[in-house]
Amino acid sequence: MTLHRYMEIKCPNCSAEDEALVWDTINAQVNPEAKTALLNGKTNLFVCPRCRTASFIDRPLLYHDMQIGYMAWYFPFSLVKSGKILDWIDPGGQIRGIENCPGCDYAPGTHYVFDMDELVRYIKFRDALAEDMRHGPG
Ligand SMILES: [Zn+2]
Repeated sequence: MTLHRYMEIKCPNCSAEDEALVWDTINAQVNPEAKTALLNGKTNLFVCPRCRTASFIDRPLLYHDMQIGYMAWYFPFSLVKSGKILDWIDPGGQIRGIENCPGCDYAPGTHYVFDMDELVRYIKFRDALAEDMRHGPG
């Protein structure tokens, strides 16, 4: 499952508008190039066509690695402060509607982060663990 779309974004610097590619979900196996962009800090970035200001499009971003078997979800912390996070996560800390996701048996262990840098660090951490598993101890 990889979801992305074009959205009209307004430049915070000069108010010019343009369409930008926005990712909601990145699947490491389906879109490895999107994973690379994420690790390089290039995901959900709007570059203004008029003044060239780059700004981050602050939206939830779910990262899904089917091979290692985990999900990590970035949420803007404003969703927590406003209580809107409850639209996504139930009071027990689980993803709402996950029972409708066949094959998502590791979803209850989804790691939530509130910082894009932390999302990148967490992905690199899990990649490092998986790498070590492949090579065995030593
Ligand atoms: Zn601009």
